[in-house]
Amino acid sequence: MEEKAVKFLHLDLKGIVPGIDRFRKYLQYFASLGYSGIVLECDCRIPWKCWEGAGEILFTKEEISSLAEYAESLNMEIVPLIQCMGHMEWVLKEEKYSHLRENGYYNDLCPSHPETVEKLKEWIDETFALFPRAKRLHLGGDEAWHLGSCPVCQAKITSDPLHRGKMGLFTDHISLLANYAKEKYSLQVMLWDDMFCKEENKLLLDEELKKLPADTIFVHWKYQTDAEESLAETAACNRIVWGASALRCSWQNHFVHALNFVHERFANISCWEKTGLPILHTTWGRPNNLWNPYGPWEALIPEFIAGGKGVKEVEKHPWKDFLVLMDEAVKACDYKKLENCLAEGEKLSCSDEWEEEGKAFFLLGLRYEILRLETKGHLELLRIRAVLEKYGRGDPAGCEKDYASCREKVRLKIEKWEKDLEEFWKRNSLSDFEEYRDLRRAEFFIAELFERKTDDKE
Ligand SMILES: [Zn+2]
Repeated sequence: MEEKAVKFLHLDLKGIVPGIDRFRKYLQYFASLGYSGIVLECDCRIPWKCWEGAGEILFTKEEISSLAEYAESLNMEIVPLIQCMGHMEWVLKEEKYSHLRENGYYNDLCPSHPETVEKLKEWIDETFALFPRAKRLHLGGDEAWHLGSCPVCQAKITSDPLHRGKMGLFTDHISLLANYAKEKYSLQVMLWDDMFCKEENKLLLDEELKKLPADTIFVHWKYQTDAEESLAETAACNRIVWGASALRCSWQNHFVHALNFVHERFANISCWEKTGLPILHTTWGRPNNLWNPYGPWEALIPEFIAGGKGVKEVEKHPWKDFLVLMDEAVKACDYKKLENCLAEGEKLSCSDEWEEEGKAFFLLGLRYEILRLETKGHLELLRIRAVLEKYGRGDPAGCEKDYASCREKVRLKIEKWEKDLEEFWKRNSLSDFEEYRDLRRAEFFIAELFERKTDDKE
């Protein structure tokens, strides 16, 4: 019964994250919203000894320890998350660790390589040393897309006297690590359950799952509205189940948008609320380490409120109507709707500093969406004029001149936007500014628009 009120928040540090002081303030905010724990996925952001030479370090281990201690002082449990097979891109992209890739792929560790398990045990040791008060450890275990595809793994599967296929390979590996964490550190292990749910042979699954510690928590992640119906998949596993929503995960054409679709997230959270299960609200920073950062946490203030206080709370929020407008405008990629939404956004009232910054990011995001459409329009015009010119319809003294001056206006607007973006990043002490700005620039078609003149001369 006690677990019914569990509302954990997953923070994925491979995305855009705040500096240490701002992070502490965020923890305070999360506690005030009612989260009872944080699942912390440090990923590539701290100097792991066992993965020396890999990562994009942002925090020292001391800083992470102090954050954990602070979260605990706010009555939030800290659960470290490390991956043990799939989503090891940040390590496996390095040449130094290329021998551990499953069949050459960057995302999976090969479970048959003798070094893999040794490394992972070291990682568990290092994690426990960093989080000595942890009661649970999340071992990941999702989306091992290339499981069993290398020659060594395939030979293992073929020679398995029990004919357990890939599931045997998977559970042998996972249970070895889960039992190691359980026996050595008394940690209750959490696992994403998608790899188990996929198994069609339920008799085999039943046998294989007996190898895991009895108290292992299966975290069933479903990020669309079909969460409740999908629970039948995990019921076959017969384990303690937590549900996982997404406060942010990949959305349609996420790489071109600064703003995600808020109501899809509310619908997903609402679905999980109905199940009465303990919930882990995930906050993904990128689709994986080789893809784009989604945006700062400031973009997720309504989602943080909905996850912590419940969707009913945001339904009463003064931003309610604006959020509907914003979703509609961004989805429609409609200039007039976006302009209207921007005007409405400027009038939003804020009840705390988090909402102030959330509002500031929404305004920046809307300006970006508008500029993206404007630059796209200008680029289309340039291309059409180039074709017309070829057919003797050039007009350098007339419309070409007007278009050029319009383009100059857009260029200045972009300059101003980038300056405001940088200021926002600095004010909130956020990481990865250049990468984020350059990705947005790629969508402004900047090179094509403003460097065309030089190209022509060549
Ligand atoms: Zn292999």
